[in-house]
Amino acid sequence: MTLLHVKNVTKKFGGITANQDVSFEVGAGKIVGLIGPNGAGKTTMFNCIAGYFPPTAGEIWLNGKKISGMTPEQCARAGVGRTFQVARTFTSMTALENVMVGAFLKDRHVGRARSISTNLLNFVNLGRFRDKPAGSMTISEQRRLAVARALAVQPELLLMDEVMAGLNPTEVKDMVDVVLRIREKGISCLIVEHVLEGIMPIADAIVVLDYGKKIADGKPADVSNNPQVIAAYLGEE
Ligand code: ATP
Repeated sequence: MTLLHVKNVTKKFGGITANQDVSFEVGAGKIVGLIGPNGAGKTTMFNCIAGYFPPTAGEIWLNGKKISGMTPEQCARAGVGRTFQVARTFTSMTALENVMVGAFLKDRHVGRARSISTNLLNFVNLGRFRDKPAGSMTISEQRRLAVARALAVQPELLLMDEVMAGLNPTEVKDMVDVVLRIREKGISCLIVEHVLEGIMPIADAIVVLDYGKKIADGKPADVSNNPQVIAAYLGEE
């Protein structure tokens, strides 16, 4: 079953075309990687899906409902959660309070928000930080905290923006384990990532953007062997 359907999306900023006629789907309970060189339009696509700005042309549907044109709050309520490329952790707040910020978007009841947030901290293996300031956590832990906060909005689709960047191999594995457990919950993940050793082994599909256009879409093994993808991106490795 298709959860997210991106249909012929174009996004222009003045004379710059950041996304050009891009179409792809994310199935329910699937992990899809969105990859491509710097400036390919990946973050712009995330911003369109999350309602930060409307596409110049095309439509985005979630669960049979058109979400393009909605505000970020409406997209969040419709089921889109996201993390940010630069982690927006509130460092002086505790880990629990950081996650509760997400929970409150969905439900203003303090007791329920606290209980959901505590469970999510345990889910991302950060239970021990519950009452500690987020600023005392490592970058790797703060990334998982950001994932917990995005999950607190109870999304059907989680957009993850470079959550593995700059992490060491053990930390990448910790994040990969979290992503796999998110899929087990039935939540779909669309992941922008340059850390290919993190995303390639776990993705159900990979979408490749280059200069704003989709140049490949398929199983990781097929995409890795695609000559156009190798020329545009993988050859840089
Ligand atoms: P990276 O891997 O470096 O994060 P990306 O694939 O996410 O890159 P985008 O950040 O989406 O790429 O950028 C795509 C193009 O759109 C770039 O040329 C960028 O300069 C341009 N762009 C993005 N946001 C804006 C904006 N708000 N105003 C003007 N141009 C923008």
